[in-house]
Amino acid sequence: MEENCIFCKLVRKEVPVNVVFENDDVLSFLELNQSVEGHVMVILKKHGKSIFDYDEKDLGKLMSGVSKVSKKVQKALTADSLTIGINHLEKQGVPHLHIHIIPRHENDKGGIIQSIVRGEVKRSREEITQMIINAN
Ligand SMILES: [Zn+2]
Repeated sequence: MEENCIFCKLVRKEVPVNVVFENDDVLSFLELNQSVEGHVMVILKKHGKSIFDYDEKDLGKLMSGVSKVSKKVQKALTADSLTIGINHLEKQGVPHLHIHIIPRHENDKGGIIQSIVRGEVKRSREEITQMIINAN
């Protein structure tokens, strides 16, 4: 628990929160500024800034929560699909790992994950593959 972390405060119910799912490890709640109705977050109750701060067991619990909540959101909002994502170490975001689940509908004017950024790809596929393999 981090004293001043807003999501740790949500876990402790020190600030108002619309909980949609909760178990011993995971809390899921309505995003404070929903992109669309039913936009929720899923977090581990244990504080950590990013996926690097949790072990595989914790991450498994988190994804299990994401799966459960996704089923409920898709059904409740009769979504055609969902966009499920992490803004990893995003500087303006809350520094407590959270996964967004955003209900999607046909013609909702949103894009797919690949539309978030479109940079120029100058290096060869082989070079980029080797750069990632060799990084430690
Ligand atoms: Zn926290």
